[in-house]
Amino acid sequence: MRRDYFFDRWSLIASRRNSRGHDVAGAEASAGVTPGRWSEACDFCPGNEDRTPPSLLEFGGADPHAPAGGSSWRLRVFRNRFPILPGDADAAAAEAAAAPPLYRVRPSRGGHEVVVESARHDLTPGSFSTAEWADAFRAYRARIAALEAEPGTAWVEVFKNQGALAGASREHSHSQIVALPLVPAPMKVKCRQTAAAECGFCRVVASEMAGPRMVAVNDHFVAFCPFAPQWENEVWILALRHVARLDALGEAAGRSLARMVRDVASAVEQLTPCYNLMLFSGPPGRDFHLHLEIAPHSSGAVKAGFELATGFSVLRISPEESAARYRSLISGTGPN
Ligand SMILES: [Zn+2]
Ligand SMILES: [Zn+2]
Repeated sequence: MRRDYFFDRWSLIASRRNSRGHDVAGAEASAGVTPGRWSEACDFCPGNEDRTPPSLLEFGGADPHAPAGGSSWRLRVFRNRFPILPGDADAAAAEAAAAPPLYRVRPSRGGHEVVVESARHDLTPGSFSTAEWADAFRAYRARIAALEAEPGTAWVEVFKNQGALAGASREHSHSQIVALPLVPAPMKVKCRQTAAAECGFCRVVASEMAGPRMVAVNDHFVAFCPFAPQWENEVWILALRHVARLDALGEAAGRSLARMVRDVASAVEQLTPCYNLMLFSGPPGRDFHLHLEIAPHSSGAVKAGFELATGFSVLRISPEESAARYRSLISGTGPN
């Protein structure tokens, strides 16, 4: 991995990702997943496990959505065959030895795993039940712990790319977990906020609560549109009380999180089928404030020259309007 000349910003050269399979149609056809609970062509569907690496973790038992013939698992985790950090340590070390100070490189090493949260092919994250989302978060916790136990892990990021415009290469819903050898610059900024005399995120929770940008609240989490979004209809989910990490959540708070993520994802999917969902759980041994960010994408909202040159965002809808839309969509959500 290579560092920018001036900025604390890294480029990961992962050319093997060229050979990844794709089954997601182009942006114009991204209005949903191919109908059908099971797909012969899908590497992530039950019965096709031999097309992916062996399971690192499986939650067994009958999947209520399994196709005829059944599935022995309802959630499955395996190593990504085309990792973002390919682990070519020797090549990187040789490059590092030869590089003058202008060129900073590090071994591109770190785990990269795939979580298939449901055996069913045609479910989207917004149509998972709360129990399915709770399973997903249990799997994230277990795999974050396993990856943090490996030498060299500085932080573990969990994310979902849903739909073609969000970078998904597979239709079948899945999350990805990447263990990084360093803490990225934006995450360092967030850690400093948490470490201030009064946690910056706790102040944001107190201020956004019941305000014009609030989307939903339950016993342990609040969802709101951030004051200065980077993306149209961007929405964040923050723990109401200061908690650093996913593994510090109790059982009840875990269920609250699952319910909140399901409700918000369902509302987002009524606006666009394409979005990224990112989990920010604290690096090991550091204080933090647990949260998630959801970045929706539509073909009319591409970051273009001005945005790239300045780092600014130009939005056609205010976060106050976005929040009002989300509130009306979430008020119709069912109970499970
Ligand atoms: Zn599938
Ligand atoms: Zn806090």
